[in-house]
Amino acid sequence: MNSRRIGTAFAAALVLVATKADADPPSGASAVDAVYPVIVSNAVVVKTLADIKSDDDATFAEQKRITEIAAPPYKEKVRAEYYLKRMQELGFKDASIDGEGNVIVLRKGTGGGRPKLVVAAHLDTVFPEGTDVTVKEKDGTVVAPGIGDDARGLVTLLSIIKAMNANNIATVGDIMFVGDVGEEELGNLRGMKAFFRDHTDIDGFISIDGLGIDRVVNQGTGSHRYEMIFTGPGGHSFHEFGLPSAIHAMGRAIAEIADLQTPAEPKTTFTVGTVKGGTSVNAIAAEARMAVDMRSDSTEELLKLEARLLDLVKQAVAEENARWKTDKLTVEIKLIGDRPAGLTAADSPVVRAAEKAVSAVAGGQKVTLEGASTDSNQPMSLGIPAVTIGGGGQGGNWHSRNEWYKPVDGYLGPQRALLTILMLQGLDGVTKPLLAGRQATK
Ligand SMILES: [Zn+2]
Repeated sequence: MNSRRIGTAFAAALVLVATKADADPPSGASAVDAVYPVIVSNAVVVKTLADIKSDDDATFAEQKRITEIAAPPYKEKVRAEYYLKRMQELGFKDASIDGEGNVIVLRKGTGGGRPKLVVAAHLDTVFPEGTDVTVKEKDGTVVAPGIGDDARGLVTLLSIIKAMNANNIATVGDIMFVGDVGEEELGNLRGMKAFFRDHTDIDGFISIDGLGIDRVVNQGTGSHRYEMIFTGPGGHSFHEFGLPSAIHAMGRAIAEIADLQTPAEPKTTFTVGTVKGGTSVNAIAAEARMAVDMRSDSTEELLKLEARLLDLVKQAVAEENARWKTDKLTVEIKLIGDRPAGLTAADSPVVRAAEKAVSAVAGGQKVTLEGASTDSNQPMSLGIPAVTIGGGGQGGNWHSRNEWYKPVDGYLGPQRALLTILMLQGLDGVTKPLLAGRQATK
């Protein structure tokens, strides 16, 4: 995932509309402020947070174990089976793997199934099969591909569950814990797309991805990516002069694309990332291809940009054909990346609870709202309140073989996530859930 700060004006312009199931869970900051002191001073909760801290070393050991089970895109199965086994060992005999490959666990609440919150971390990494995933340790820092992204998220879930079960924490709402597939580039959120197709009764969503507890991702940056393949007859540059060229057509398209204008807010971007083509210097190119990336914090702007850009490409082909009075040049346009955009309002309980929980575990820590492309994009695009928060600790070099992790106060991640969950789902007999029960989504 990558992220940046979002414009607050844009965030504030959008308002979350939630429907109420029962009683009157007020939304926003005041509701969170009312529930927060009750939760953090509850003796069982205090003990559960302490258990998470005592379990810090075991959690870190598990993080290294999971990292060493390779999980390339579309090949998460071995890691998924291990994760399933761990869930079963934690008492969830009904834990299962769905048709797409997601590991799913239901921890029932006392409220008859409402509201229902999903807490997810992704199983997949960006690394191809054959990548050395051995964890190397030096001076308290570990280096391994995927050690933070998202092995840390996966163990955050395990740590939370372990402590909740040991202390018999009963929530009002149901919690579904999910180890999902296909979050990274090539996966295109296939795990989450399948999950939300199969489960239409989800009221809220938390993704544990990244590390820092100083941020809340409440904006999902959408992206569309295309490969465009220009094909023509090809021929000798001298003898067959007069034929249309695949490279010339692509050049026309790129020149037009380069001049496109997009809004700064909501941030909307494009680039022709790679180009390939031609056979030799003295041949009219028979083939040329390029990959194009488009992103936006708004689905509407993304679709507008996409329509204009695709139009320019078709126009460029028409111009190249017209130049040589032919129709022999064609372009094939292939969608290779598709992530929806979305936003959870800054004053929604999910965002407020995730912010507020930080003050309990790390008082004084400032929290920023950010935009990124994560699993939360999918629920956000469906109007389901969602955030992505960190699993704790320090790290860097994301998506590189030199990814590193340092277990500095790692327990703050699961502690913060647990408090967020408890505020949203309610502690049985103590607080009401802040998450509003929704009607089933279409
Ligand atoms: Zn990730």
